[in-house]
Amino acid sequence: MADLGEFELIERFFTRPVRRATLGVGDDCALLQPTAGTTLAVSTDMLVEGRHFLSTVAPDRLGHKALAVSLSDLAACGARPLAFTLSLALPRAEESFLAGFAHGLFALADREACELIGGDTTRGPLSVCITIFGELPAGAAILRSGARPGDDVYVSGTLGDARLALEAFRGTVMLGEAAFRHARQAMEMPMPRNDLGVRLRGLATSAIDVSDGLLGDLGHVLRRSGVGAVVDVDALPRSAVLSAQPLALQRECLLAGGDDYELVFTALPSRRDAVAAAAAASGVAVTRIGRIEAGSASRLVDRDGAEVESAFASFDHFRG
Ligand code: ADP
Ligand code: MG
Repeated sequence: MADLGEFELIERFFTRPVRRATLGVGDDCALLQPTAGTTLAVSTDMLVEGRHFLSTVAPDRLGHKALAVSLSDLAACGARPLAFTLSLALPRAEESFLAGFAHGLFALADREACELIGGDTTRGPLSVCITIFGELPAGAAILRSGARPGDDVYVSGTLGDARLALEAFRGTVMLGEAAFRHARQAMEMPMPRNDLGVRLRGLATSAIDVSDGLLGDLGHVLRRSGVGAVVDVDALPRSAVLSAQPLALQRECLLAGGDDYELVFTALPSRRDAVAAAAAASGVAVTRIGRIEAGSASRLVDRDGAEVESAFASFDHFRG
């Protein structure tokens, strides 16, 4: 880090007073004291340029998204965010990039009361790695393994817009200006569902966040739970922008899209009112999209109950 200097860079852009943690940036270790009786929830995500984000993304949006994907993992477990570490590889220490990145990162961190407590900084191809720490009452984590036949399947928000934006960037889809802005916002500025996730503790029997596409991510829940599911493709919540696209493209974006960072979760049918109340309290729409059944995979049906063929695989970094 010749130009700005590694320590000057850390000091200027990534050192802020901590409130919740015992010790933040600047020593050999950060110190974090979990609340008595709670369990720490820990998750790591790495974002690499060209793989997880495009070089066209604005620095503040990159800062936002890097933290959003980590917060989303805590949301899926029902953990309350506490703190995170940030490991950065940068081709050069460019002030305007760093200022924008830090701005987007801390705006979301402040919103979710999640503190930056440490990290690592090195020169290299642009990549961002965040490890996030959350807490929840011992035994209260919502796991992928808890879905049982008869449970309802829900998803928060809408699906598919991030994939639609990616297709527009790739040039396979033409969008008008307003539609493109909407889709791009979904791709670059996902809003993690942390408040909803906390409210789903003791209510959802299983949950996962949609990072690689609904079918793939729901598939992880089904495998871990040893069950199957029936999903109504016509019930999948979508934006007006996606609804205006051809049906085949809609379904591809909805089922295999990825980068949505919505929560897919299951709950007992007897808890429908409680799920609706949790959704209302968190200000996030929640839609019932199907049911868990015996079996081992997702069956797709339309609103009339007719079977729908699906050739959609979810994103896999070593296949896709
Ligand atoms: P060490 O040599 O012990 O690994 P470093 O010199 O890498 O320490 O980092 C000095 C301090 O700055 C540490 O407290 C570390 O956690 C923090 N730090 C380094 N990079 C970042 C970053 N990108 N964001 C936040 N804190 C950072
Ligand atoms: Mg270091």
